[in-house]
Amino acid sequence: MNEELLRVEHISKYFAGVRALDDVSFNINRGEVRGLVGENGSGKSTMIKIIAGVYEPDKGDIYINGNHYKRLTPIISIREGIQVIYQDFSLFPNLTVAENIGINRVISKGGRVVNWKEVYESAKEGLSRVGADIPLDAITGELPTADRQIIAIARALLEDARLIIMDEPTTALTQLEIQHLFKTINDLKKRGISILFVSHKLNEVKEISDSILIFRDGKKVLDQEAEELDIKTMEYYMTGRQIDTSSIAYSEPEEAPPLLKVENLTLRPCFSNVSFELKSREVLGITGLLGSGRTELALSLFGELPAESGEIWLEGKKVFIKRVQDAMEQEIGYVPEDRIKEGLFLEQSISNNLVVTIIDWLASKMGIIRNQTKLKTAEEWVSKLEIKTPSVENPANSLSGGNQQRVVLAKWLAGNPKILILNGPTVGVDVGSKAAIHELIRNLAKQGMGIILISDDIPELMQTCNRILLMRDGRIVKEFRREETNEEELHRHLVAAKN
Ligand code: ADP
Ligand code: MG
Repeated sequence: MNEELLRVEHISKYFAGVRALDDVSFNINRGEVRGLVGENGSGKSTMIKIIAGVYEPDKGDIYINGNHYKRLTPIISIREGIQVIYQDFSLFPNLTVAENIGINRVISKGGRVVNWKEVYESAKEGLSRVGADIPLDAITGELPTADRQIIAIARALLEDARLIIMDEPTTALTQLEIQHLFKTINDLKKRGISILFVSHKLNEVKEISDSILIFRDGKKVLDQEAEELDIKTMEYYMTGRQIDTSSIAYSEPEEAPPLLKVENLTLRPCFSNVSFELKSREVLGITGLLGSGRTELALSLFGELPAESGEIWLEGKKVFIKRVQDAMEQEIGYVPEDRIKEGLFLEQSISNNLVVTIIDWLASKMGIIRNQTKLKTAEEWVSKLEIKTPSVENPANSLSGGNQQRVVLAKWLAGNPKILILNGPTVGVDVGSKAAIHELIRNLAKQGMGIILISDDIPELMQTCNRILLMRDGRIVKEFRREETNEEELHRHLVAAKN
């Protein structure tokens, strides 16, 4: 049933010279749930209003039910079966449920005397179409948000909606109410009604949509089946995270031996014959699926899982890393994958966490660690990494995930390592912290550190690494240079590694 309901082609819209929409085309089929996502200002509401006939596009064509329009009016749009449920639901709070649902239909019949019986009958029919049971004489404004939303949907159905556009419909709903809304949407879909679900909550859009549109800066940047998309990819397209690529432009240090050289490193059955070099000022990505050996390799370099054979050279000197202590003496730092389990003492204060790693260093320099020194050091790092906390004496578990990750990073940075190994440094952190961590990584490299970034987050690898090594079954199978590859290629190779 791929019958097309709506198609917009090459739609552009300007507001006083500001381009709100730029050459946007897409279609919606009957009985399809389309997700539309984009950051604030990306043009979502403008597109909705064009489809609703509220705004006139500057360029482009609109086709609904096969009819061609250069512009719509609200009346035409409604006649074609388009209904928009705005965030405020456009209900009259002082009117009853019946009045809100039924009144349009009665008024549109043009009679001078309102037939209240008919209003009630219509309202009842509308509610039954959504399978909802809300008292018809309740005052609308006194009902919970979820009920008001159902009322708005019921009203839309009475207008013979073929496409219901919902603008940020879950903003004020609880988890349970969201699940209920999704059930309603799926019921509507079964009856051949199409939904355009507009939101910036990626997980919800992915859950409910058949296919997803992503807008950025007024452009459609992605249009794909929901099941082919993961949240990370959506996030990447949505934010575009335009990064300053000059910060990862890498120039080889002259003549100096590599910071780290690994030759035929082997720890069976985890990995074998791994060889690579890391230079200073370089961010080297290591990727691979779970079980590819990427984490074990990192732990080997950090002395936690010492290799059984092979050689490790630091700045041209052969070293032996048989325990964590050896790695630390060689100024190698490691930020683990599971910061909660391995990286932080959650019950302890932020300041204690920050100075754990440098305790030896502080002790050796000063004989004893004075509390004041500890606090001062901690406060310096809190401000340097913009960790959001009212006090360094608060426990680490009072911080958000992204801020906890910054604490883990800080505690290693405080020790000023030459080589820093980061394992999944942004897993589970919010978008803002993620961008900040990426910037930090690039800056550290710029200042001379050599960084190994272990990750399967392809946008992350592309945004921070100079080179990327792909591991499969404990071996390095391919090397990519950032400027010679792209996300698609990386993704293809990473997934191919499954087979
Ligand atoms: P979204 O709904 O995705 O947040 P909008 O469609 O509201 O985005 O906005 C897209 C762009 O158009 C923004 O830059 C916004 O400031 C601008 N814009 C939207 N409506 C108007 C308007 N009525 N007048 C001027 N600029 C507008
Ligand atoms: Mg909007």
